[in-house]
Parts: sequence; C-alpha cells; structure tokens
Amino acid sequence: MQRTVAAPADLGTDVIGFPEGADLELDLRLEAVMEGVLVTGSVRGRAVGECVRCLGEVVDDVDVFLTELYAYPERAKAAAEEGDEGEDVRELEGDLIDLEPALRDAVVPALPFQPLCRPDCPGLCSECGARLADDPDHSHETLDPRWSALSGLVSQDDETKES
Ligand SMILES: [Zn+2]
Ligand SMILES: [Zn+2]
Repeated sequence: MQRTVAAPADLGTDVIGFPEGADLELDLRLEAVMEGVLVTGSVRGRAVGECVRCLGEVVDDVDVFLTELYAYPERAKAAAEEGDEGEDVRELEGDLIDLEPALRDAVVPALPFQPLCRPDCPGLCSECGARLADDPDHSHETLDPRWSALSGLVSQDDETKES
C-alpha cells in the first residue's frame, strides 16, 4: 500500500516537526497474522524546524521504519488480562486501522532532539545577535575601556569640525 497522506496537526516536537498538511509518504504492508493485522513499512516526509543555535530554518528528511501490530479486540483483551508488561496493544476497530498513533510513535523519536541547520553551525553573535553563518568574518572591535574614552573625544572633535 503506497499512499501519500497529509500530516496531522502537532506531528513533531517543540523544535521540529511536520507542518500540518505536509506530505507523508507511506509505503506499508498489511499482513494478516494470528493476532490481528501487522503493519510494516516506511514513512517518509520532510520535517521543518528551527536551529537551536541560530534559529535558522532546519529541514530534515525523515525516513523511518514502522512496525505495528493491530490486534483483534478479543486478542487485545486477552493480552491485557495476561498483563503483558503494559505493552500498548493497538486494537483493530472493525476493519479500520487508525494509523496516526503508530505514525507518531515511529516518526517523533526519529526527529533530532536539538536540530541544527548544519553540524558546525556557529550560532549567533553574542554581542549583536547576527547569524555568524551569514557573516563568518563578523567581529566587533573590542575596545580597551581606556581607549573608548579617547574615541569619545575624537568623535566629539569631528562633530565640532563639521558644524
Ligand atoms: Zn544554525
Ligand atoms: Zn555581532
């Protein structure tokens, strides 16, 4: 089953995720097994986020493997009664499979915890907030406080000359 679906709302974390309605390509195989239906396959999409260092846009192509068992309701109940380690058993609802929770479980952990626009992102200038990636030679003249008094004098001189 190959299908493109629209990303549901809030698919992602605070810092990176899929814009609602973005394309998610599913390439899934549904297999009838004894307990229910086993869904396996891949999910592909493009997550968009913010670089934690420079707040620039980060684009992350996600390609994750998904495997999820949807149990027949009676099987799911039996598993719960056996106390199967609290393992969340998803239930088949009639013939319907609600893929969204499985999608979330597969995709969200695959997203970078601290997205970076590039691995060596230099971040922002601590003095003026400029993006250092755009301006690698960026620097501020750090004036010796003794000189700054002097430069004040110089600029005052300039002003008096101009007027
Ligand atoms: Zn960055
Ligand atoms: Zn700066």
